[in-house]
Amino acid sequence: MKYYSTNKQVAGINLQEAVVKGLASDRGLYMPDEIKRLPQSFFDNIENLSFQEIAYTVADAFFGEDIEADTLKDIVYDTLSFDTPVVHVNDNIYSLELFHGPTLAFKDVGARFMARLLGYFIKKQEQKDVKVLVATSGDTGSAVANGFLGVEGIHVYVLYPKGKVSQIQECQFTTLGQNITAIEIDGTFDDCQALVKKAFLDEELNGKLNLTSANSINVARFLPQSFYYFHAYAQLKRQGKEKNVVFCVPSGNFGNITAGLIAKRMGLPVKRFIAANNSNDIFYEYLQTGKYNPRPSVHTIANAMDVGDPSNFARILDLYGHSWEKIKSGISGYWYSDDAIRKTLKGTFEKTGYLLDPHGACGYQALADSLTVDETGVFLETAHPAKFAETVETIIGKDIDIPEKLKAFMKGEKQSVNMTKDFADFKSFLLQ
Ligand SMILES: *Cc1c(COP(=O)(O)O)cnc(C)c1O
Repeated sequence: MKYYSTNKQVAGINLQEAVVKGLASDRGLYMPDEIKRLPQSFFDNIENLSFQEIAYTVADAFFGEDIEADTLKDIVYDTLSFDTPVVHVNDNIYSLELFHGPTLAFKDVGARFMARLLGYFIKKQEQKDVKVLVATSGDTGSAVANGFLGVEGIHVYVLYPKGKVSQIQECQFTTLGQNITAIEIDGTFDDCQALVKKAFLDEELNGKLNLTSANSINVARFLPQSFYYFHAYAQLKRQGKEKNVVFCVPSGNFGNITAGLIAKRMGLPVKRFIAANNSNDIFYEYLQTGKYNPRPSVHTIANAMDVGDPSNFARILDLYGHSWEKIKSGISGYWYSDDAIRKTLKGTFEKTGYLLDPHGACGYQALADSLTVDETGVFLETAHPAKFAETVETIIGKDIDIPEKLKAFMKGEKQSVNMTKDFADFKSFLLQ
């Protein structure tokens, strides 16, 4: 399968090139040339299939032409070493829990898939010494570092802003060792991202090193996120709740929701989608006005959604042929202030016993505000509340249980390299 750039200024390329390149040279995002509809027989029988079986069918539609069946199956099964259960919260609202992976956030699915796919391509080409650069404000670094841990031929450099990620998040990428190096930058997240971008544009670096990026615009991170929408539908069907399904996605860069829109194009029976945002309401505003006005992000307690210019907006425009009317009819938008998020988190916990994280709280509330009685709402619970323990404990006024997996990270010893935000320092470090 070929992949085209949403900016359409460069020629289509194959999967391997798209995975290695990440962003197209015309600055567009890659999209698959064809989104195949899965046969009706698949949906008729989906409730009898395992998560891995469902995911393999979906993966085959995208990657089957480029990777032999056994290898693709291994990659899919190995990626999905954990479940994504649908859990009833109250009334007709369900939580799709995406936090049962190694770093307790949905990004584990895409990061693990990409690591295995890139590992496979590198081996096939007998390449060694590929350097993956990733800038993080928290969750991406942990998912990418853990996804690539121990993958042969690849070394990962995680750049993060000193003192600006939570202690739990920091532990998840600074204690791993092996092929993971954490670099603590004396600066902001934007400085980290600027260093990574400069590295990709630097001729000398690219002449001497094999550099690649693992951010969420990569097709190998974004497409596998469609797997769990199908699996959620299968679980609802087992309970006879598959009519008029509404998916509500807490969104930042809009990669997760775009994977859901693609699942629908493949035939998944979804009535509609909701994008739930925090105070960074750029998409909500677009739905109201038809104007897209990116602006600097503001800090909120749902910080993984603090995005002022969602990168996957380009893919949404592309999917709907740049029609505002069509986008509005397929996706609705809601946004919540920090106070509203606190109120939902506390109220839901007291009323139902279900503990949301600040991102999932936006998703839950948007369903509570908009579902009709004949709809079944599923919000994506994108991270475990313990990843935001301090915030959540303050809101509910109680200590919460920290999962063993998270505690294990916190026992490790922090290893990181201190660096200024000066590109010359970063460059000479990479060349060492
Ligand atoms: C990354 C992230 C999001 C936003 O996902 P996008 O694909 O960027 O829209 C939401 N919640 C959590 C917990 C995240 O880590």
